[in-house]
Amino acid sequence: MYLKYLLVLVYYVALIASDHEVAETYKQRRDVLLGRERGMRLGSDVILDPYEEIVNKQLMKNKKEEMAGYVSGAETFPPGHSFTEVKEDIEKSKVYKFIRKMPKGGLLHLHDFALTSVEWLVLYATYLPHCYLCQHQDHHYHRFVFSASKPINNKECVWSLVADERRNFTDGTKAFDDMLIKSILFGNSKIVSSRGNTSQIWQYFEEYFFSVTGLLLYNPVFPLYVYEGLKELWQDNIQHFEIRASLQQTYSLSGRHSSPRTVLQQYLQGIRRFQELHCHLCRVQLIICLHRSLPAAVIKRKLYEAAHLQRMYPGLVAGFDLVGHEDGGRSLLSFMPELKGSRLPFFFHAGETNWQGTATDENLIDAVLLKAKRIGHGYAILKHPAILEEAQMNQIPIEVCPISNQILGLLDDLRNHPASSLIASNFPIVVSSDDPATWNSTGLSHDLYVIFMAVAGVHDDLRLLKKLAQNSIRFSSLSIFEKEKLQDDWISKWRIFIENEAKSLCINNTQLEMDF
Ligand SMILES: [Zn+2]
Repeated sequence: MYLKYLLVLVYYVALIASDHEVAETYKQRRDVLLGRERGMRLGSDVILDPYEEIVNKQLMKNKKEEMAGYVSGAETFPPGHSFTEVKEDIEKSKVYKFIRKMPKGGLLHLHDFALTSVEWLVLYATYLPHCYLCQHQDHHYHRFVFSASKPINNKECVWSLVADERRNFTDGTKAFDDMLIKSILFGNSKIVSSRGNTSQIWQYFEEYFFSVTGLLLYNPVFPLYVYEGLKELWQDNIQHFEIRASLQQTYSLSGRHSSPRTVLQQYLQGIRRFQELHCHLCRVQLIICLHRSLPAAVIKRKLYEAAHLQRMYPGLVAGFDLVGHEDGGRSLLSFMPELKGSRLPFFFHAGETNWQGTATDENLIDAVLLKAKRIGHGYAILKHPAILEEAQMNQIPIEVCPISNQILGLLDDLRNHPASSLIASNFPIVVSSDDPATWNSTGLSHDLYVIFMAVAGVHDDLRLLKKLAQNSIRFSSLSIFEKEKLQDDWISKWRIFIENEAKSLCINNTQLEMDF
């Protein structure tokens, strides 16, 4: 009898032991896979020093606390909603505040007409004499021009002096300026009303540029506009700037237009003023860009002109790009006759689309074959495994601009951004903000926040942010010598930032030493 019970007992003990063994093996295999995946992520090769470890601990505590509220549904997850609706919520986040203070290295994809805040344009430029305004009542857009005499009215525009409009505005000066700012910004109502129709969104988006060009291209404004824009970016802790510059002609009060060379000189005035007053080590480079809707002959002539300007200003002009709504314009392949033979480095916008198999989607193939130094957006790259492999092998980085992609209708919830996979597979990316002033953003902090909280994973930490800053220097267009200088400057700023953050987290240095 006892023997029977003993046998049953032995059987169950063996069974439990075997179950335990199976569970252990399963857990080990699971840990191995998880570890492999974590080791493949962007930033996984970054090793943190003791100060960075302290800062990282606090950063991740904040990230996890904020994420817990979002995951449980108790709080609205900002990157899941249109940026224009949640900008203020983002700015309350402790993670955002940390990112804002962080030295970020370079901002490599930014368009000149969305460089400086609309608020500055309205509060400075529209207060200058001879500034005329036209408001189209039906379409709610504004046009501005500086002119010695009143421009001629037509069915689209009835012109009046801004100063008169401001004086006669019944709700006062501040309300008038706020109205102007709001009417110029690319607001949420326009995005929502377009319901994901990217062509229509682009139509509204381009209205922004029609509104601001009359203000910023005025000769007395343009160098200050460049200076002010660089200052705003620098205040976001960015040290290097690569601007897609359209080199559109600036104009005088009499309507005379400047040559591209004069426009470059005006750029230099703004840049030098910024370097003298704020950051002598900061560098600015221009990527000359043309609208893809221009006729072939114009593209050819301008490309030749751009090459000439690069020879004249080698430290300033970095290369060439084609811009405008990619789905609505000519493909890179169709530009081949004009592009072939050019020695300018290319930085093409490519694959900024949701469509698959279209000419725009295939721009990615041509961008790689034409040896682009970097690819703007590359939103469709996951649909092209061979191109992805080729770009990774040749270390052609993608300039990821998450908020721009959301606002221009490619996706709603930033957790679904394709850069999630690029981060998961250690693909070389840099984060950029594209046209921040258009949607009332400045610099890089908002985009880095959504990358860190939504596009990356819950476990991605300071190492990812550090890697992104390092990438922005590594993949910049600077010469090796300039790159090393930028790198040294960034490292010293990073150390100061990290040590200050770490010290503010500890009661004193003794506590710090005790921890390590
Ligand atoms: Zn762009």
